[in-house]
Amino acid sequence: MTVIAIDGPAGAGKSTVARRVAEQIGIPYLDTGAMYRCVALQALRKQIDPQDISRVAEIAETIEITLNGTHVGLNGEDVSSLIRTPEVASIVSLIAAHSPVRDALRLQQRQWVKHMNGGVIEGRDIGTVVFPEAEVKVFLTASPHERAQRRVNQDGGDLEQVAAAIAERDRIDSTREDSPLRPAEDSILVDSTGKTIDQVVAEIVETFHRSQGELSHG
Ligand code: C5P
Repeated sequence: MTVIAIDGPAGAGKSTVARRVAEQIGIPYLDTGAMYRCVALQALRKQIDPQDISRVAEIAETIEITLNGTHVGLNGEDVSSLIRTPEVASIVSLIAAHSPVRDALRLQQRQWVKHMNGGVIEGRDIGTVVFPEAEVKVFLTASPHERAQRRVNQDGGDLEQVAAAIAERDRIDSTREDSPLRPAEDSILVDSTGKTIDQVVAEIVETFHRSQGELSHG
């Protein structure tokens, strides 16, 4: 079973890179951020306070999330675009800081990987906590300016506002107590600033093939 973990801050290009790496290697791709976003979307719809741990946890434990490539289902509804709104982004980190939410989603992530027999898994705590045994662990970063600029190019909006929103999300994600955003000790650090997607993908695929070579040669 091949597991490749790709972690990093918001806007580093994880989703695009992870999807392409998965395609090239021929294994499935799992976006764990989409799962936290589903919980956030449902909390918004039910008008639940993001800080209300027990009610948010109940959502995480009861909603049915389906992930198929880039298609995200929430209780049978396609929410692929609805989870990408600024409203969801503004509360998702608060929700992701609650341990019962993380426990529920981690369980599903491990089940998914077991069922699919491996994959490229993208998130914040994949190499550190969810799959510490992953063959390849990547910590993907880019300069704050470039990360904000990429988001604006993709979704529009004001550069300064987008940069501030990203910085706040990273601050909450990296300072929470339960599985904060940080590189695993044995991860390779890939800085995508000034690099094309193709370059970053090639670097990771090469690292994967090298790790396979090392395995087969003992
Ligand atoms: O990757 P994406 O930006 O979609 O992630 C949304 C949010 O979900 C992150 O800011 C973080 O709060 C949370 N998340 C997490 N652990 C993961 C993946 C995402 O806490 N493994």
